Amino acid sequence: MEERPVRLRARAVLSLVAVAVALAWVLSGAFLHDLAEGLDRTRLPLWKIAVPVAVLLLALFAAVWRTRRRVCASCRSGAWHPIGERETAHPVRRAVLRGTGVALVGAAGGFAAAVGRNRGWISVGRDFFGREPHLTDAERPDPAWKEARVRRYRRLGRTGAEVSDISVGCGPLRDPAVARAALERGVTYFDTSPDYSHHHSEQALGEAVKGHRRHELFLATKFCRAEGHLLNETPVAEIVETVEGSLRRLGTDYVDLVHIHSCDRVDRLLAPNIHEAFDRLKAAGKARFLGVSTHTPNLEEVANAAIDSGRFDVMMLAYHFGMWPTFGHILAKAKQHDVGIVAMKTLKGAKHTNLTPFTREAGSYAQSAFRWVLSNPDVSCLVVSFSKPQHVDEYLAASGTELTQADVARLETYDRLVAGDYCQPHCGLCLPACPHELPVNDVLRYRMYAKDYGWEREGMRLYAALEKDAGTCLTCPAPCAGACPHGVPIRRTMLDAHATLQLPIVTA
Ligand code: SF4
Ligand code: SF4
Repeated sequence: MEERPVRLRARAVLSLVAVAVALAWVLSGAFLHDLAEGLDRTRLPLWKIAVPVAVLLLALFAAVWRTRRRVCASCRSGAWHPIGERETAHPVRRAVLRGTGVALVGAAGGFAAAVGRNRGWISVGRDFFGREPHLTDAERPDPAWKEARVRRYRRLGRTGAEVSDISVGCGPLRDPAVARAALERGVTYFDTSPDYSHHHSEQALGEAVKGHRRHELFLATKFCRAEGHLLNETPVAEIVETVEGSLRRLGTDYVDLVHIHSCDRVDRLLAPNIHEAFDRLKAAGKARFLGVSTHTPNLEEVANAAIDSGRFDVMMLAYHFGMWPTFGHILAKAKQHDVGIVAMKTLKGAKHTNLTPFTREAGSYAQSAFRWVLSNPDVSCLVVSFSKPQHVDEYLAASGTELTQADVARLETYDRLVAGDYCQPHCGLCLPACPHELPVNDVLRYRMYAKDYGWEREGMRLYAALEKDAGTCLTCPAPCAGACPHGVPIRRTMLDAHATLQLPIVTA
């Protein structure tokens, strides 16, 4: 008599949990994807998170509340029994526990569903939205680099423009003098965006090019706001206004190229409002060419769709040595369709300043990386962040030079050295091997911030906030040895992290 309603209620709870997990995949997964893709977060709908959470809470509530209300099958009372030996076998208690457990598992499942939908982003890494780390061998400049100039210009697809093979990415640009120096040494292509340094990049670039002959420059910006990329449904007039804002900051009447920024989806690539806005801007003489930048999990699909659409004149793609062994054909296809290719993320993580073999004697790792990228004739040019005056000498010294055996050897050495030093931030495979439950992946990520990205203060701040730090490794016999499938020597690297990240003791 009592079994059937119990089973029905259990099924209802399970159904609610299943609905919540499905909603998490569809709604929260989409929300996380939009965040990862860099869309304007102030305009993202929070209900996509709230609805799955509400359904899960409903499942939990239904499991607990409705079961408590029913008449107990064993003692025929509606009373709640205290926790005790008898109660563990009690059917009401069992049903509540089961329901609660299912709801909690559902919460974990919902979270996993939302994250799982975006698993491609895990390997790409969120920092792909940022700029390349501002690291360079320029701290140890070679006198031979001094006053280096652009020595080669290459055709940028059907735009017909001849652009400097090494060009300026303005992600971290704050100082107009850096861009001006690059301009004076022959750089013609400058890539910026409203969301780089919250409009400051466009302002600094505008300052740098003021008074220069406009027709000698090729200025690229993005459909974007300081807060992030535009949503598909952004009204056409608003899209036009954002580009006009870029024109004001850049101090120009037109931009040569507007990219759909960091695009991971074909629906965003082909969003009708963006295309209508571009057509209006083009007709008004405010934008000349359309492009797409992509360095995302869905790069291949987006790049193919962009070429096939016939709408895009230029693609800016992540491209560095050892990349794309299986789909380099996209570059060849772009060439066939006369779509210009701008390479970015060319330094492959830019960890070279901390690698002992990359001293001045070994030459510039950056220059080797650039030569590798430009050795592909299907690449029109590359952009790299110039944030310091020294970058102008160092980077432009590679312009017009040919890839050598020594470059390839240097790049292979970099790969080997990075292999055992790079802790993949989302990994955590070694965590069960540490009896002290140290958050190895977090500690090593903070070390990367401090040592590779140059964000010492942030690394130290995060490290100081940890409940357990790597000081424990000092006296530990390291049962974690060999636990990293990626070859990271865990104890040694943790100790290095501890030495790097400990806040200095201030004495009065
Ligand atoms: S040390 Fe190795 S196993 Fe541990 S989190 Fe890092 S990459 Fe993963
Ligand atoms: S050496 Fe450090 S990370 Fe390894 S097991 Fe010991 S405490 Fe954990």
